[in-house]
Amino acid sequence: MSRYFLDHIDRMAGYAPGEQPLDGGFIKLNTNENPYPPSPRVAEAIAGALGERLRRYPDPVGTAFRKVAARLHGVEPGMILAGNGSDDLLTILTRAFAGPGDVVAYPTPSYILYRTLAEIQGARPVEVPFSADWDLEPSRFADPRPRLAFIANPNSPSGTALSAARLGAIAGALDCPLVVDEAYVNFAEDDAVGLVADHPNVIVLRTLSKGYSLAGLRLGYLIARPEVVEGLIKVKDSYNCDTLSLVGGAAALEDQDYLAGTTAKIRATRSRLARAMRDRGYQVPESRANFVWCTGGPPARETYEALKARKILVRLMRYPGQPDGLRITVGTDEEVDRFLEELPA
Ligand SMILES: *Cc1c(COP(=O)(O)O)cnc(C)c1O
Repeated sequence: MSRYFLDHIDRMAGYAPGEQPLDGGFIKLNTNENPYPPSPRVAEAIAGALGERLRRYPDPVGTAFRKVAARLHGVEPGMILAGNGSDDLLTILTRAFAGPGDVVAYPTPSYILYRTLAEIQGARPVEVPFSADWDLEPSRFADPRPRLAFIANPNSPSGTALSAARLGAIAGALDCPLVVDEAYVNFAEDDAVGLVADHPNVIVLRTLSKGYSLAGLRLGYLIARPEVVEGLIKVKDSYNCDTLSLVGGAAALEDQDYLAGTTAKIRATRSRLARAMRDRGYQVPESRANFVWCTGGPPARETYEALKARKILVRLMRYPGQPDGLRITVGTDEEVDRFLEELPA
């Protein structure tokens, strides 16, 4: 490391995203990408915005996108903030709410980017363990007196979800913003948007990367009280979303029939994959997401390596104090069949 870095940056490990192999031929079941293409309306909308329009800067707050998202969720456009992927919004939230020494709380095992974002701020990450049945006691969450709390719901890597009532109880026990990261909500039954009305500290985060098959476009948004959105706008980059992703993202949100079709297929394949893994002796909690979390089988690292040698990528995940596990993205039926054929016994 160069000696110029701030001490706390020098000490950080940094976030390691899932592998994105540059040579083709892999079946990728490691980063929860959607196996189906995005709605054809996305490409049409982007094609319509190419050319002269690109000469100008994008709309700094994405007014047209906000209106579409607001209509979808039955809220005011002033309650929507778009980001360059939901990771951008997570960065904005952490910068806005957590300073050096402040506690940032989130469950474990969960999305490991929360730790990285807290560390960049010089804040103190505090991990709240899930119970054995993937529940969270509200009092345990409030105990470290956080300045900011994150909960991925449905959670990664478990795929499990807390009820909106549970999240409401946690929000009520907290004296800080509670970010409910709904990256996988399109595959679930329930969502937390309704909580924003009763709990001014709830901020719901959405992405178009998973359900809408647009991980490469980079668009996410959040839903929060207008006064929260106003404050966050001060923290974001002026032009954090480009013209093409705003236009393409709006088209994707407007095609709810297409979303319903692809998510129904993924849910059906998910049940089949979970059943097959349980039949092979793995423990697989009921998933509400587009992946399944498998523990308790043969040594996970060996299985991961054997699959990789056969050009199938899954995510090997290790959390302190937990057994290694494999997080397997729900692919197409053909991809899942190939995976099950190649899975070592
Ligand atoms: C994938 C994922 C994100 C990131 O989504 P982007 O919009 O692609 O940045 C955020 N949170 C969780 C829990 C995720 O799994």
